[in-house]
Amino acid sequence: ARVKVAINGYGTIGKRVADAIKLQPDMELVGVAKTSPNYEAFTAIKKGYKLFVPKENTSKFEKAGLQISGNIEDMINEADIIIDTTPNGVGASYKPLYQKFEKKAIFQGGEKADVAEVSFSALCNYDEALNKNYIRVVSCNTTGILRTLCTINNKVSKIEKVRVTIVRRASDPKEVKKGPINSIVPDPASVPSHHAKDVLTVIKGIDIVSMAVVAPTTLMHLHLMNITLKNNVKREDVLTALKDTERIVLINSSRTGIGSTAEIVEVSRDLGRYRYDIPEVAIFEDSIYTQNNELFLMYGVHQESIVVPENIDAIRAAMNISSKDESIKITNETLGLMK
Ligand code: NAD
Repeated sequence: ARVKVAINGYGTIGKRVADAIKLQPDMELVGVAKTSPNYEAFTAIKKGYKLFVPKENTSKFEKAGLQISGNIEDMINEADIIIDTTPNGVGASYKPLYQKFEKKAIFQGGEKADVAEVSFSALCNYDEALNKNYIRVVSCNTTGILRTLCTINNKVSKIEKVRVTIVRRASDPKEVKKGPINSIVPDPASVPSHHAKDVLTVIKGIDIVSMAVVAPTTLMHLHLMNITLKNNVKREDVLTALKDTERIVLINSSRTGIGSTAEIVEVSRDLGRYRYDIPEVAIFEDSIYTQNNELFLMYGVHQESIVVPENIDAIRAAMNISSKDESIKITNETLGLMK
């Protein structure tokens, strides 16, 4: 039988995960839940997704002419597993409800790590999530860092320490009230940023410090990373490892003329990728530089879509229906990842 999946919180991440569920041969979408009758609720109905809302909001949706299929409890009751993509911190407040109905749930990176039994990044720790009831898919930035670090650590050399600077996008494209629009802001002002701590919820015991600034862009984050390895390292070995790894693409700027996040997005639009999503980590090949046991690199992270494949894999791990390699293969093929 196919796994019945419900989406609680149909926003930036939730709508993408809902579309991804529709493409999985081993899953079916029960429906999506929202609290406000905005345009995202309209498009959910347009796509034929069943809409569930909190009981007290029913009349608001009816007044807006939106047909609803029941309340959030009805949706949870029908599902085997809930993907909680509600705003930061709201997911934790739903956990008692998932527990009451004895349902598994996948939370997002905006929740504290202790909401779940395990924090998750498919390339790093799929097996630790097998059979778990509560899994937290780490944030977009942490997913980008972890895919890169686990690849280097497993295929090139053990990592001694990591220093990473995150240039964060100011807002998602749909968010009209966030900024800055003309400044680069250390955020948080103090070092380290929370990202390093978040990485440690998945790979334990590495020396990592992160700092972050927020920049006036909506397209992607950009990371500047410096890794010190246990052994001396050759650039070719790093290239081979990264080329060999799923969910990571190398962009050769001198050959292709793609030298910025804007041009990465333009290529994705030209290729007709849905919503111009880029679920792969996009590494600027020319930035990869090695010196003795140090490695430097820069890469882009498309915040709106990078965690979508991870959410799909987290479902298979929680339900224990596929091995890591099987799940990653099905997810990548159905979502049209480059590899
Ligand atoms: P969003 O604001 O775009 O979407 C949240 C959705 O939840 C909205 O549709 C809203 O109507 C709905 N909602 C609000 N309160 C609700 C409630 N009480 N019950 C049910 N639904 C409710 O948010 P988002 O950007 O998709 O973020 C969701 C989670 O994903 C957060 O934990 C965030 O940290 C994480 N995340 C976001 C990004 C990103 O860049 N947008 C990337 C990775 C992870």
